[in-house]
Amino acid sequence: MRAKPPLPAHKGLFGRPSVINNVLSFAAIPFILDNGAKAYADFGMGRSRGTMPIQLAGNIRYGGLFETAFGATLGELVDEIGGGTFTGREVRAVQVGGPLGAYFPRALFDTPFDYEAFAARDGLIGHGGIVVFDDTVDMVKQARFAMEFCAIESCGKCTPCRIGSTRGVETINKIINGERVAENLAVIEDLCNTMKFGSLCALGGFTPYPVMSALKHFREDFGGDLGPAPARLQAAE
Ligand code: SF4
Repeated sequence: MRAKPPLPAHKGLFGRPSVINNVLSFAAIPFILDNGAKAYADFGMGRSRGTMPIQLAGNIRYGGLFETAFGATLGELVDEIGGGTFTGREVRAVQVGGPLGAYFPRALFDTPFDYEAFAARDGLIGHGGIVVFDDTVDMVKQARFAMEFCAIESCGKCTPCRIGSTRGVETINKIINGERVAENLAVIEDLCNTMKFGSLCALGGFTPYPVMSALKHFREDFGGDLGPAPARLQAAE
């Protein structure tokens, strides 16, 4: 009896360590064969070498698929490649990494597109998805959407994800309705920590990223005079 299968890198084909490449890796191979590994590695920064396909979506003027070297800042990707919002309004929030990625405010647009740089700011690059929101977005509803997404997609195997996501939707609904906001925010933070560290896979484990980043960077959307974010939420600022 095991909680989940072993990682292929540890135990894969014939029980031996196995490499599994994704489309991203295969797509890089022709350039590397043509130009050499060093030419590919010359793109990027730090430990994030080469290029990354990014998907610009949401409220963005020039949405679509783009390939760029690691190291471009989030602001360059959104404002220069993406051309800002489609509506022409101010960019307020950008979700990076997919539906379970963290929300970044404009104040963090200097973050370079780099695995370590995003992790240092409690974010993730994930599959390179970037979804842009203008200043009409309601971030408490975005936080609820993350919990709803997790509740719908959960396979139900582990308790933090299966029950935590449903309790998360209920608790955020109470916050939206103005019920005991401070206490319910504490419940959400506790719930997110349980899901992050107690879930068996990335679905339950990553759902706290959009929720906690919305709470950390857009606290004013969660209603009432809540005061500054607790120290544990400010640690990575
Ligand atoms: S975290 Fe993963 S394994 Fe656990 S219930 Fe959610 S989807 Fe299933």
